[in-house]
Amino acid sequence: MTKYADLKLPSPVCQLIDPVFEQAGIQVYLKRDDLIHPAISGNKWRKLKYNLLHALEQKAEALVSFGGAFSNHLYALATVGRLWKIRTIGFVRGDELGPESSATLRHCAREGMELHFISRTAYREKEKSPEFRHFPGLPANTFLIPEGGTNEMAVRGVGEMADEVEGAGIRPDIYVVPAGTGGTAAGLLARDRKVLAVAVLKNAGFLERDIEKWISPQQSARLELLTDYHFGGYGKHTEELRSFIHRFESAHGILLEQVYTGKMMFALYDLAKRGYFARGTTLLAVHTGGLQGKLEL
Ligand SMILES: *Cc1c(COP(=O)(O)O)cnc(C)c1O
Repeated sequence: MTKYADLKLPSPVCQLIDPVFEQAGIQVYLKRDDLIHPAISGNKWRKLKYNLLHALEQKAEALVSFGGAFSNHLYALATVGRLWKIRTIGFVRGDELGPESSATLRHCAREGMELHFISRTAYREKEKSPEFRHFPGLPANTFLIPEGGTNEMAVRGVGEMADEVEGAGIRPDIYVVPAGTGGTAAGLLARDRKVLAVAVLKNAGFLERDIEKWISPQQSARLELLTDYHFGGYGKHTEELRSFIHRFESAHGILLEQVYTGKMMFALYDLAKRGYFARGTTLLAVHTGGLQGKLEL
């Protein structure tokens, strides 16, 4: 892969020293996948890697994918397309939108992604419909990546993160990740690791079944899904979350955003304070990136 040099891999790991963790008698590490690339947000690189390799191998003319106006996945994909010189096409949910509707879409357009704005109904039908391959103007030999980037190749790519962590001599008892589609959680479970996944959507119990699609029953038994840290739902936040993010950032000099990593870290601190983890537990939280979508809170 010619452009590997642009990516910071393996990403660094650091220990978070904090009185809360000391009192709980636990060790907490942070895997800095946010540092992999400023636009190719950490876990999105993990998920895209093997999709990209397969597409290049098949000499695909274009990478095609789907997302909303704030999709970190489309954001990353657009930059991957520019760096690897492969055409990218993004189908965006909402036919009332345009390339100026969000900073994410402006970035995608600037990186050369072709954007198609489709109705919510058409969007819902997308993966069920092989018709999508025949969308007017799509090249014959396209490589389709699902919304959020989660598929078998994504699950495989995420597993490599565990190799990096353990290669650095850290043996976490539990990996902690935020969950949108659950692909990142599935990737670590597929490597037989124990995973605490913090759902960022409301009513996210369905994620358990989504994640089970990618792994064996024994592996899925190692998943613990937390559904009470969504702060109102996807993209929503509260004063409590905002002030937690501020405190964390000034204590550790590491930025979090409000959609994913802020909620994950809030959950981790909250559980530590409540004595949820056995003393002596080693945790590894994954900073999945997304900082380009950070709001001034
Ligand atoms: C997309 C994203 C996630 C969610 O990952 P899933 O594999 O869909 O669960 C988490 N964090 C950030 C920063 C993301 O952009």
